[in-house]
Amino acid sequence: MTTALYMHDDCLRHVTPPGHPERVARLEAMARALAAGDFAALDRREAPLAARADLLLCHPEAYIDRVVAAIPDDGWVALDADTHLSPGSYEAALRAVGGNLAAVDAVLAGEISNAFVACRPPGHHAETATAMGFCLFGNVAIGARHAMERHGLGRVAIVDFDVHHGNGTQDLMWSEERALFVSSHQMPLFPGTGDAHETGAHDNVMNIPLAPMTGGAEMRRAYENEVLPALLDYRPELILISAGFDAHAADPLANLNWTEEDFAWLTERLCDVADDTCEGRVVSTLEGGYDLDALAASASAHVDVLIARGAEGSG
Ligand SMILES: [Zn+2]
Repeated sequence: MTTALYMHDDCLRHVTPPGHPERVARLEAMARALAAGDFAALDRREAPLAARADLLLCHPEAYIDRVVAAIPDDGWVALDADTHLSPGSYEAALRAVGGNLAAVDAVLAGEISNAFVACRPPGHHAETATAMGFCLFGNVAIGARHAMERHGLGRVAIVDFDVHHGNGTQDLMWSEERALFVSSHQMPLFPGTGDAHETGAHDNVMNIPLAPMTGGAEMRRAYENEVLPALLDYRPELILISAGFDAHAADPLANLNWTEEDFAWLTERLCDVADDTCEGRVVSTLEGGYDLDALAASASAHVDVLIARGAEGSG
């Protein structure tokens, strides 16, 4: 079976002020990289628009109304020092959520082996009723809720390897008995949360803080010793990945020293767990990554593994 890639041009219409790291060029760099011949095997799909009911799986009506009301007619509006809205931001955000839901549907239906959702704005910092860290809605958390509420899943694992703590996903999944949320991240770093003692209302949150300058070898040890055994033990029915590539050594916003090979290794190991527990079902979603070359190379390495592992899968 195949790997699907979900994108949409609407995600280029979420425009941030000049000099902002979370910019349109990120997605353009990614699209260029994934257009290469090596990626001919991808099943390319348009990310559909999510419905308001989908956002309501994780966010209250009043918060959604607040975001919609703040959308400017032109230029930008700042929701906080980092998080901006432009005229196209709401449609972009609906594509980012919708891409996740469509990918979950297609993987659970057995149409595809796995998927990568390359949309923006990212989502893992968006809390229940607070936009922050470039994020408006919890794209991956909403995908998880969708899998639980509409597909009846009882054990969804979310693995967030973005260099920043996934405080939003943690907030949205804190009391969710049907999810295990695992985040590895640099600490100290924005947003400041993600201490190992934050473990969720049902022991369903696992935080792996990594010291600045942590390289690939230490990352691999942390995953081998802590994360992978916990995931195997959990026996997820679906694995969702918050795939941020800002732990790369070249990233300007953080100080970890991972390489493209480290992202490939990590993707392989998560696919191993998925093969052992849930017939290889993986939906991966773009979060951060702000050096364009490192982002393109790391995402390519990640998607390369998804394609190879998807093709090996049965079906
Ligand atoms: Zn990040």
